[in-house]
Order: sequence, then structure tokens, then C-alpha cells
Amino acid sequence: MMKHYDYLIVGAGLFGAVFAHEMKENGKSCMVVEKREQIGGNIFTYDTRGIQVHKYGAHIFHTANQQVWEYINRFAEFNHYINSPIAIYQGKVYNLPFNMNTFHQLWGIKTPAEARHRIADQIKDLHIGDPANLEEQALSLAGTDIYEKLIKGYTEKQWGRACQELPAFIIRRLPLRFTYDNNYFNDPYQGIPKQGYTAIITQLLKDIPVVTGVDYHHFIKNQDSFTFGKTLYTGMIDEFFEFRLGRLEYRSLRFETEDMPDCDNWQGNAVVNYTEKKIPYTRIIEHKHFYYGQGEGTVITREYPQDYQEGNEPYYPINDDNNMMRYHQYRELADKQKNILFGGRLGQYRYYDMDKVIESALQLVAQENRETPIESYFPSNNC
Ligand code: FAD
Ligand code: UDP
Repeated sequence: MMKHYDYLIVGAGLFGAVFAHEMKENGKSCMVVEKREQIGGNIFTYDTRGIQVHKYGAHIFHTANQQVWEYINRFAEFNHYINSPIAIYQGKVYNLPFNMNTFHQLWGIKTPAEARHRIADQIKDLHIGDPANLEEQALSLAGTDIYEKLIKGYTEKQWGRACQELPAFIIRRLPLRFTYDNNYFNDPYQGIPKQGYTAIITQLLKDIPVVTGVDYHHFIKNQDSFTFGKTLYTGMIDEFFEFRLGRLEYRSLRFETEDMPDCDNWQGNAVVNYTEKKIPYTRIIEHKHFYYGQGEGTVITREYPQDYQEGNEPYYPINDDNNMMRYHQYRELADKQKNILFGGRLGQYRYYDMDKVIESALQLVAQENRETPIESYFPSNNC
């Protein structure tokens, strides 16, 4: 007897898990297939002596959307962690994001007026109108010193291309402020789940069958036990179509994790960026500092950017004009598919943070249950 599921969900990352959970709540049957050995996608965390290790890089939940914050808090208790990374350039330490502390460290100045004047003076001869790329955007916002010391090297190693070839929006992710405020994000809601992110995904996928360690293409060709009404695909959209319109570009990373059971505090901060190009990693994270130093010993992870090629992971879409043109062609193809949905960072080729992934997954759920308005997925704030 073939067993029927309403949805096959490809990918047990945040998008797939939120979608599966909500569809199940709506009475639909779901099955998940995940090619990695574990659930969670890039937000997977694991425990080492009481330290939650972020296997695929630092993940700080932050959002301006109160409803998304309330939604995620249904599945976890969050701490009050505020991300305040530092940058090291030629042996000197600078606060991030770019703020009055950074300006003081760079120029010895103390007031916002002095900082604005210094930046204006540095860019007055550059005549940048509407910034056409990341370099122009960074220069026009922050001036030449910050660009040369804290942006150019980091960005070029992170993305593997010149700042003139990158879209301006990437640098607009970072606040620039004229106050002494080292909070990396502007969002009013921020924190890290006390039990790690895997616990959230485990709860979302409770009572939903999940097959791990199997690629979708292999699974679908080699099984004859199940039928599915629809498929949600959260892997790479170009891979789904076997690259028939050419390959989209992604940037990958290599994570080098070092366990130091005998060291209590290695770098004194959760995130330290290395902004010189000649240092091959972009940042080192020390996981215990996301949890106020909790846990025995310490664990650090160095993040080395690398080209994406088959066999490593596509962590970041490269949303430049050429790739976006190709993505839109894939999107047209996707829209013609019957009963196949695409979602998430790879399925939608978007530089999504976790809050946007949740928003987008809930929108798709609302679309699939047309009669249910999206508001109903958020807890009511009626007193
Ligand atoms: P993914 O997590 O990539 O999940 C997709 C899943 O599908 C994966 O598990 C993959 O193995 C599986 N899959 C793919 N293809 C197949 C296939 N063919 N068959 C079976 N399974 C398949 N966001 C924040 O909000 N704050 C942060 O601080 C933050 N930091 C980040 C740091 C790094 C280094 C990175 C890379 C991302 C960061 N993000 C952060 C973004 C965050 O990771 C994403 O928004 C989120 O994880 C995306 O979820 P997803 O489900 O779309 O994708
Ligand atoms: N960036 C930089 N210097 C830094 C940190 C970030 O120039 O010290 C730039 C870089 O281009 C990076 C972008 O800002 O890709 C966005 O940074 P974010 O920390 O949001 O990157 P993510 O955590 O997504 O890798």
C-alpha cells in the first residue's frame, strides 16, 4: 500500500521546519527529506560541555517584526544577548558597527559633529551620486578610512571579488551611527535561544516523519512507498532544474572549529572580525560568549570564505545583476511547475536572515491555506 502525504518538504532548515509545522497544524500531512545527517540546516547547534556550538557560523536572532519575535518565542526561551563584534586591523581593535567608539579609535575625535565633518571631508572630492556598487555605497556612507581599514579587505575576501563588482545593499546591512552604541543591529528584538537552535527545529518537526542523510533527487527516484500532493523545495533552485539555464553563483565557507577544554576564555568576545585581506579567515567566533560565558573550557570557530563548487555548501547567494537575471529565468520556470513550491535562502536565492525566512514561510503557508489570513499564525495580543 502506498502512503500518501499532502506535502513533501525538501530541507529540514528553518524554512522547511516552519512550513511543515504550520501545515500540520492546518491538518495537512507532511514528510521531510534532508540530505545532511541532521536537521536544522545552517542554524544547527550542538552541545559541547554546556556550550552551544553554532556549527555553521554565528547565528543571532534579530528582528523588527514583533509578530515574528512572538512566533519564535513560542518555541524557545531567548537570552538577552546583544551582538557587539569587534574588528582587528593591523593589530588594532575597533568597535563595530561603525559608531562613535570606532570614530574615536580611528581619529581621536569625541563628538558626532567632528565625526560627520571628518567623513564629509574624506569624500568631498569623490563626487558619488547614486551609489552603483558596494565600494561607492561604503565610501559615501563611511568615508575612505573606514572603507580601507574595516570594509574593503573583509568584503573582498568574504565575497571573492572586488567591491566595485558587488551590489550596494550588502553593506547597508550594517548600521552606521553617530552615537556610542556597539549594538550590531538596529532591530528592537534580539537574542539567542538558551537551548540552541536545534531545539527549535526539533519542536517544529515534532511528530513529522523526517528522513535524513538522503538527497531529494535520490530519494524521489528510489522510493515507491509514498505519494505526495505537493513538494516544497528549499535547496538550490538551479540544482532542482539540473542547471538547465546555467549555474547561479554562491559563496561558500569553510568552518574550522577548535575545542579547547582547558581554556576558559580565548578571545574575550563572541565575534572578532579580521578585516585585513591577507588574513585568510574573516572572523573567529567563541561560542560560549553568546551565552554569557556559560560552559566548561571553550570552543572557537574560524570562518574561511571559499568559492562554491559541488561538494561544499552554498551559504550565500551572490545577488549581482547577472545572477539575478538568471534567477528570474529560473523563477519563471518555477512558476510554471505544478505542485512544486520553492522557499528559503536557496530556493528563493535571497540573502535572508532568520526572521525573513519565518515571515516568508508563513506567507507561503497562508497562500497554501488561502482561507486563513497570515495574522492567524501569530499569537493574538488580545488582553
Ligand atoms: P538552510 O538552512 O540552508 O536549509 C536548507 C536545507 O535544505 C539544508 O539543511 C540542506 O541540507 C537541505 N537541502 C538542500 N538541498 C537538498 C536536497 N537536494 N535534498 C535534501 N535536502 C536538501 N541569520 C540571522 O538571522 N542571524 C544571523 O546571525 C545569521 N548568521 C548567519 C551566518 C552564516 C555564516 C550564514 C551562512 C547564515 C547566517 N544567517 C543568519 C542566515 C540563516 O542561516 C538563514 O536565514 C537560514 O538558516 C535559512 O534557512 P533555510 O531553511 O532557508 O535554509
Ligand atoms: N562587513 C565589512 N566589515 C566587517 C563586517 C562586515 O566590510 O567587519 C561587510 C561585508 O561586506 C559583509 C557585509 O558587511 O559581507 C555584511 O556583514 P554581515 O555581518 O551582515 O555578514 P553575514 O553575517 O551575513 O556574513
